[in-house]
Amino acid sequence: MSRKIPTICPYCGGKVIFTDSAVLYGGKSYGMVYLCTNCNASVGVHKGTRKPLGTLANTALKSKRRETHAIFDGYWKGQGMKRSAAYQWLSQEMGLPEYRTHIGQMDMEQCQQVIQIVYARTAAAKDAA
Ligand SMILES: [Zn+2]
Repeated sequence: MSRKIPTICPYCGGKVIFTDSAVLYGGKSYGMVYLCTNCNASVGVHKGTRKPLGTLANTALKSKRRETHAIFDGYWKGQGMKRSAAYQWLSQEMGLPEYRTHIGQMDMEQCQQVIQIVYARTAAAKDAA
């Protein structure tokens, strides 16, 4: 499945340009990004290509993804699960193919879904104990 090249920002309708990430990170480049010229929502690309890694994320979504990562990683590490097994489990719970199960590519709703899946599992484990 090929991802669409973003041209219009999904948050503010601003114009999206393909540019060096140095403009976002005070001159330090982390490769090329698609960037909304209005609200600074951005997404990186697969190295050496113009293929976006996911959908544009604004500040709120970026912090939500960080929170989701912390909760999910904390859960499987605490369970002594392997990373691969953890993502396999998550993909089954979410009904997503494994190659699509990446928190860095999820939207707000999917992040919330991950958090709820982890909380439900944690609560179930507590009930069983
Ligand atoms: Zn925007």
